[in-house]
Amino acid sequence: ALKKYQFMLRLKMPAGECPASLYTTLDDISESYGNQTLRLTTRSSFQIHAIHKSNLKRVVQAIIHAGGGLYGASGDCSRNVIAPAAPFVQAPYVQARHVAKVVAELFALQSRAFADLWLDGERAATIECWKKDLDMDEVRKLMTTDNGRGQVVPDAVEPLYGKMYLPRKFKVGVTVPGDNSIDIYTHDIGIIVFCDPEGQLEGANLVVGGGMGRTHNKEETFARAADPLGYVPAAVLYDALKAILAAQRDHGNRAVRTNARMKYLVHRMGIDGFRELVRSYMDDGGSALAPMRAMPPWSFQDYLGWHEQGDGRSFLGLYVQNGRIQGNLKQALRSLADRFAFPMVCTPQQNVLITNVPSTEQKEVVSLLESHGVATEPSVLDPLMRDAMACPALPLCPPAITEAERVMPRYVQRVRNLLSKVGISTHESFVMRMTGCPNGCTRPYMAELGFVGSGPNCTYQVWLGGSPTQTRLAWPYLDRVTDAEVERVLEPVFVFWKSQRSSRRVVW
Ligand code: SF4
Repeated sequence: ALKKYQFMLRLKMPAGECPASLYTTLDDISESYGNQTLRLTTRSSFQIHAIHKSNLKRVVQAIIHAGGGLYGASGDCSRNVIAPAAPFVQAPYVQARHVAKVVAELFALQSRAFADLWLDGERAATIECWKKDLDMDEVRKLMTTDNGRGQVVPDAVEPLYGKMYLPRKFKVGVTVPGDNSIDIYTHDIGIIVFCDPEGQLEGANLVVGGGMGRTHNKEETFARAADPLGYVPAAVLYDALKAILAAQRDHGNRAVRTNARMKYLVHRMGIDGFRELVRSYMDDGGSALAPMRAMPPWSFQDYLGWHEQGDGRSFLGLYVQNGRIQGNLKQALRSLADRFAFPMVCTPQQNVLITNVPSTEQKEVVSLLESHGVATEPSVLDPLMRDAMACPALPLCPPAITEAERVMPRYVQRVRNLLSKVGISTHESFVMRMTGCPNGCTRPYMAELGFVGSGPNCTYQVWLGGSPTQTRLAWPYLDRVTDAEVERVLEPVFVFWKSQRSSRRVVW
């Protein structure tokens, strides 16, 4: 019998934005060609699982024609660029979203191979929806401007990537000072924008060399939190970003794939050495690269529930357990998109925001959702579940060693039971994350309690000690903890935490 292959298809949606019309297309595809679910990702996007090979082309074409992007959502290039999901209209948030879209386009693949393969050579009938906000000529100029320092590869189809693309995937996140809803230290480049009193982009702090993926029992691979590179004024921001990309393109490790991410280059050179390398690719030798600007402490927001946007309208953050949109929630979101067509935004915590809701329509939105049994009030959630994330893992992800998404609710309940047993309040919460393999897609190495798949039948490496605002790496605590051992292993940890915890609020 012929084998039947099925695929996962991931979108590229800068800043997580998804118009209702694109959402309804994805919903239709998931019903007709997928597994009747949609999966939100930790990079503010959608995945559709279980697309049969024979249906791939029509699905790709449908998504492109609906204004979605697919090209560059995977591969050795810049992946989906994320920004805080909240659609606030205050200048720093507007600028963060804009920078995210410019970077997405600046680092976009240029080859026509995608159109040749999937669209029979036709240019997409509609352009990806985020591009409507951009001056494309300006971005093209940024992409092709050669400052004589080797940023641009002459005569290449890909001006920035050259013939070889990057050694490995490349992740960029943009945020505003104080808002760490994007896990800023886990990116190859983290950009923190500053605005002047008129709301114009003034400059940005840059952090570099973050990344989660590692391999069990290979000490030369490791999770890493990004280091501060420096502050750049707005006029040289994109020059600096191109310089960082070029540094990794030319000096990243192409011989050993497990050491190819930029974090290993930063680690090998040290941040000072890497900064000098970046300067060598910048105009004027990088004299504009200054010490980091002071920033307020980070806070973490999931943006669930109702919030004012600042323009008289509101947005509603809806909790999606481990990012899996299915059942009642799926029906509710579809009804909402059909009836109101409010734009959606995917969050880096695998939740979704319904945006631009006028006050006159809030009640109707709530009653529609409640008629499908979907709660709109986040206070009904166990705070542990609200803060938890798990990746798809088995049976959907080939690298998965063990379960994640399917067992996480049970693990959260077990942890909650343990906390109750040792006398810790049900209001207490911490960041708990789980993955089915050490690639670390839900960023478990930044969690306060991380489970990283290390063997079959729910065997995990346990990590402890990340911060509530995701500003430092956790430490590996125990390897190969089996499903049956979870309570025995964690009870002493919680007893110790209860007896030794500081009453002082520590700001990381
Ligand atoms: Fe798949 Fe591993 Fe990523 Fe989970 S962490 S989604 S198992 S690659």
